[in-house]
Amino acid sequence: MELFRKLDGLAEEIQSLEPPVDLWRRFIYCTSLSGPVFGSVDHMKPQDFDKTVSPISVAHFSQYKLMNLLLQRLEKLGFSVCSPSEIEGSIWDRKILMGHECISIHPTNEGLKVGTSYLKEGKMEEREFHCSILVGSDGARSTVRKLVDIDMKGERNLQRLVSVHFLSKDLGQYLLHERPGMLFFIFNPDAIGVLVAHDLDQGEFVLQIPYYSPQQKIEDFSFKDTFNLIQVCEQIILKLVGWKLVDVQVLDIKPWVMHAEVAEKYVSHNNRVILVGDAAHRFPPAGGFGMNTGIQDAHNLAWKISSMLSGIASPSIIQTYEMERRPIAIYNTSLSVENFRAAMSVPAALGLDPAIANSVHRVINSSLCSIFPPSLQKFALEGIFSIGRAQLSELILNENNPLGSLRLSRLKKIFDEGKSLQLQFPAEDLGFCYKEGALVAECGEKRWESEASSVHKRDLRPYIPCAKPGCRLPHMLINALKESSAKASFSTLDLISGDKIEFLLIIAPIKGSYRLARASMMVAKEFDVPLKVCIIWPKGSSDKNVNSSEKELEPWKNFIDVEEAVKPTSKSWWELCQMSSNEVILVRPDEHIAWRTESNGIADDLLELKRVFSLMLGHGKFLL
Ligand SMILES: Cc1cc2nc3c(=O)[nH]c(=O)nc-3n(C[C@H](O)[C@H](O)[C@H](O)COP(=O)(O)OP(=O)(O)OC[C@H]3O[C@@H](n4cnc5c(N)ncnc54)[C@H](O)[C@@H]3O)c2cc1C
Repeated sequence: MELFRKLDGLAEEIQSLEPPVDLWRRFIYCTSLSGPVFGSVDHMKPQDFDKTVSPISVAHFSQYKLMNLLLQRLEKLGFSVCSPSEIEGSIWDRKILMGHECISIHPTNEGLKVGTSYLKEGKMEEREFHCSILVGSDGARSTVRKLVDIDMKGERNLQRLVSVHFLSKDLGQYLLHERPGMLFFIFNPDAIGVLVAHDLDQGEFVLQIPYYSPQQKIEDFSFKDTFNLIQVCEQIILKLVGWKLVDVQVLDIKPWVMHAEVAEKYVSHNNRVILVGDAAHRFPPAGGFGMNTGIQDAHNLAWKISSMLSGIASPSIIQTYEMERRPIAIYNTSLSVENFRAAMSVPAALGLDPAIANSVHRVINSSLCSIFPPSLQKFALEGIFSIGRAQLSELILNENNPLGSLRLSRLKKIFDEGKSLQLQFPAEDLGFCYKEGALVAECGEKRWESEASSVHKRDLRPYIPCAKPGCRLPHMLINALKESSAKASFSTLDLISGDKIEFLLIIAPIKGSYRLARASMMVAKEFDVPLKVCIIWPKGSSDKNVNSSEKELEPWKNFIDVEEAVKPTSKSWWELCQMSSNEVILVRPDEHIAWRTESNGIADDLLELKRVFSLMLGHGKFLL
């Protein structure tokens, strides 16, 4: 959402379209949507709305709706969305070619030749494109990744699921009034599933149903034709909801497999083929890391490609994309797996240990059982699973039954101790930090790394603002000085332009820092790098004080004076960033800090700045 704030009001539009937060802040665990509730976990805390650590809070918005808003933004930038039948000729500039599937990649002397296929008037046709860079953002089963022979590393086949996208106004209205929530984990003797409420008011849902292949097949949900497929899904919905919904409209049914894997490389073919998003990493959808990590990948990559194409950076800057983003994906993968396992602690406490289900499934899949016909294997599997689910009957699961009461108290403990599936990870969502890449790492970084990794990952940690190289620029509200028209407070993150490549140097109004700022402007000019300086004054500084910036920075004009818009009890900017006011920070166009230094501790400002810009932009010429 922070990144979307910069895309022509996209974040604000999402906020105006998403359901009110009270309708999705809870995860609910129950026997059916109308049956007893085992637990209800609220994932929002008052600080999630107070905008202290970020100018915006999390959102709950369907991905296909987001896609439409993104396409609208691209159209406003002059791109046109074309279906295969609308494409004539060979001018592809600023066109989004829907329905084209990448099928081949060949390196050429100038770059890459990319083959695609598309369906036109019922016939498959092919078309070739020449490009200098190909960004493979083609999802978890990425063809681009396979074509360039990049393997995935990690755990495969954690779970197979069928996803059923359906509408039911009646169900939406019932939940809206009786038990609003985002995720409903439903366990009963007839069925098990997770219902994702996308929009209660519109009655839009996605149901996730586990299945075990090869004994259970996706065709089991389909029988012979679409009509029966829908009927089977409606039956499962009935078992989970607890009553027959008369207005169910099934829109889509898709199988998918949960993996926890990261690509061994993100970049290949001489920095020309680059993987982003699920093509580069696929996580269990637990904690909302999948798409967020993908969007952050793209944000990290965009300024690097732009800087390379405009000649500011060397092509080697693309390597820093992999250096920075791959460790984040590896970390988020393990966090998602842990969070997924936490989700599984609930069925385990109910006597439905998924690990046991998987072991049973493995035994049935083993050579020992392969002598039995598939129909018998399927019968055995379903028989064992239905015996397992029988433990969820009211007969067993009640306070008067010793086993049931033990299980219910175990469940309560899991919820009370926050050990079930979590939604928010502020330390990771905002506090992720690049250790090496297009930045100047500080000495002592290793010590910090080991401290951080010694903290158990799922212990929900708060985000602690930090201005170390590699970290995201901390957010604080500031006011512009000397601009009578712009008195409204804005975020330090807004100092970074959303639509052009520009670096930012943040300083305090002190002699040594002004001197370093002047040197930075000179070196930036030499490197052809757009740079802006921001001088942060304490709250209450008058316009008269800030005239000194003009004198100190002469002849340079690209600077802005701001004052902290802090409450009397809050920390100053320098305290918030854990820095002294002698320090300056250089921020990249993706809002991450590239360099931090004491302004009075440098022997030769110009030489040091040349070293910094060289390291950041991948130029070897000034490196000692
Ligand atoms: C059940 C579920 C719940 C989730 N919930 C969340 C959540 O709450 N928060 C979150 O952050 N993430 C969530 N995720 C993860 C999120 O959906 C993915 O991480 C995200 O969609 C990845 O985006 P992507 O653009 O990389 O890939 P995709 O969204 O998969 O898009 C890939 C695109 O490439 C196209 N394509 C495929 N092959 C080719 C080809 N050969 N040539 C050209 N185009 C091709 C596809 O048609 C598709 O349009 C969830 C995932 C699942 C399964």
